[in-house]
Amino acid sequence: MTATKQPRTGSANHVDVVIVGAGISGVGSAYHLQQQCPDKSYVILEMKDTFGGTWETHKYPGVRSDSDLYTFGYRFKPWVGTPIASAKEILKYMGEVIDENGIAPHIRYGHRITGCSWSSKDNLWTVEATRVSDKSIVMFTCSFLWMCQGYYDHEKPYIPDWPGMDKYKGRLIHAQLWDPKIDYTDKRVLVIGSGATAATVIPAFAEKAAHVTMLQRSPTYFFCSENKNELADRLRQIGIDEPTIHRVVRAQIMYDQDMMTRRCKAEPDVVFEELKALIRHYAGQDFQFEPHFTPRYRVWQQRLAFCPEGDVFKAAAAGKLSVFIDNLQTSTEKGVRTASGEEIEADIVVAATGFRLSVMGDIPFAVDGKRVNWHDTVTYRGMMFTGVPNLLWVFGYFRASWTLRVDMLGDFVCNLLKHMDETGAKRVEVALRDEDGGMQLLPWIEADNFNPGYLMRGLDQLPRRGDKAEWRHNQDYWAERVEIPETDLDGAEFLYDGGRSGGSRKVQKIQVA
Ligand SMILES: Cc1cc2nc3c(=O)[nH]c(=O)nc-3n(C[C@H](O)[C@H](O)[C@H](O)COP(=O)(O)OP(=O)(O)OC[C@H]3O[C@@H](n4cnc5c(N)ncnc54)[C@H](O)[C@@H]3O)c2cc1C
Repeated sequence: MTATKQPRTGSANHVDVVIVGAGISGVGSAYHLQQQCPDKSYVILEMKDTFGGTWETHKYPGVRSDSDLYTFGYRFKPWVGTPIASAKEILKYMGEVIDENGIAPHIRYGHRITGCSWSSKDNLWTVEATRVSDKSIVMFTCSFLWMCQGYYDHEKPYIPDWPGMDKYKGRLIHAQLWDPKIDYTDKRVLVIGSGATAATVIPAFAEKAAHVTMLQRSPTYFFCSENKNELADRLRQIGIDEPTIHRVVRAQIMYDQDMMTRRCKAEPDVVFEELKALIRHYAGQDFQFEPHFTPRYRVWQQRLAFCPEGDVFKAAAAGKLSVFIDNLQTSTEKGVRTASGEEIEADIVVAATGFRLSVMGDIPFAVDGKRVNWHDTVTYRGMMFTGVPNLLWVFGYFRASWTLRVDMLGDFVCNLLKHMDETGAKRVEVALRDEDGGMQLLPWIEADNFNPGYLMRGLDQLPRRGDKAEWRHNQDYWAERVEIPETDLDGAEFLYDGGRSGGSRKVQKIQVA
């Protein structure tokens, strides 16, 4: 625990479950808990003064999803808008979920969690929250901690340190900290970075700015398409109800994505040619892909940037966008200078340079008085961690919609809690089994599977994985949709009240290199 010198507000509040964070994961998890375990009491602790998480934090021009809302939306609430949605539309959808299900009274806004400690004597978590309004400490106890705090720091984004930043006389801002009051009309805007954020802000800036320049270290793959789903539109036209449309269109999109992922691995060159054909449809047949739009990594190793209506390429074809592939060397008074000596002048420099990883919300954790170092733990399917009882982290998918895993893990946690109630168990943790002895421990995620910068920069803070399905975080929705619902909760990897259901109490020691 950290801020123990601050005033406290009486004795600890006790609930069965504390959900950390009121983003799309926390709200979805609360829904599942209410539906599937109606007798459990719970509270959502959220440091901001409103819900939404990612969709509330980001306010840059054009902020929108890059996956479709049929699958990014929850399985239980039909999405009725265009597939790609603005942050405003996503917040409205989340607000409806909160209202329709009476979730609001369970949310404590303005509560930043500043410490979590587990006691095996009491089989309880004690959660220390600092109330943002008056810095007072509010204590909670709970039997289960459902970590829905996301994966990045909402307050401090990642800006690489480059020389001469203080020389620049214009405005330098990270996209995550963008203030909607900034007027970029007729201004020269330089966007540093080329990922999904850059793909979103560039066409939005291009509408009003004098000119937009993108400085990228390496190019990104883009998928251009109309922002509509023909199957959904057709089903609506013939009078099919929205819940059915939601179910069918989700199935269609997931099938198509599965095919696309397989093809990206099996025939990456063919897929790239198809992606280029889609771009030409919007930018013209003469559009030049070399060198600015020819990535160096395999398609799908990082998120494929979605480009609704080919907006980035329309801006490029209209001469409103210039692109440089180069390393930023230094800021100058008027903009930046690249490694090859080019000076790019700009009135506003927008760093779309990514996130700062935040493992478990940067909250200090302790188990029976001993500080948890997450890198010393081994992950069970990217959701539970050896040596840390009664806790689950909702870490969604990157290649498929994040929220698919929110629904899936909602079922998992509720099944686990019901199983514990049925058997009278108070404590569950995961532990390596006899057959896992000597298993090599590896970084959280394989670099050739998925390698965004913020994860690669933070591998030493993240839990480790093994090389067996149970101990991996495979980011494979299509495998997990079969494996996770079929989990044998009496399997040898689960310890209840310190012992195995099957009788064997032998636990493999974890070898941390
Ligand atoms: C700009 C952007 C666009 C994205 N687009 C997509 C997309 O189209 N599709 C997709 O699948 N994924 C997308 N992602 C990934 C996205 O982050 C997830 O899809 C999803 O929104 C994450 O939701 P979450 O609730 O798990 O976490 P978050 O949205 O990060 O919410 C976590 C919440 O926890 C709170 N919190 C954190 N620490 C504490 C603490 N110590 N105490 C109290 N509260 C705390 C935060 O304030 C926040 O409200 C996008 C990400 C970004 C940044």
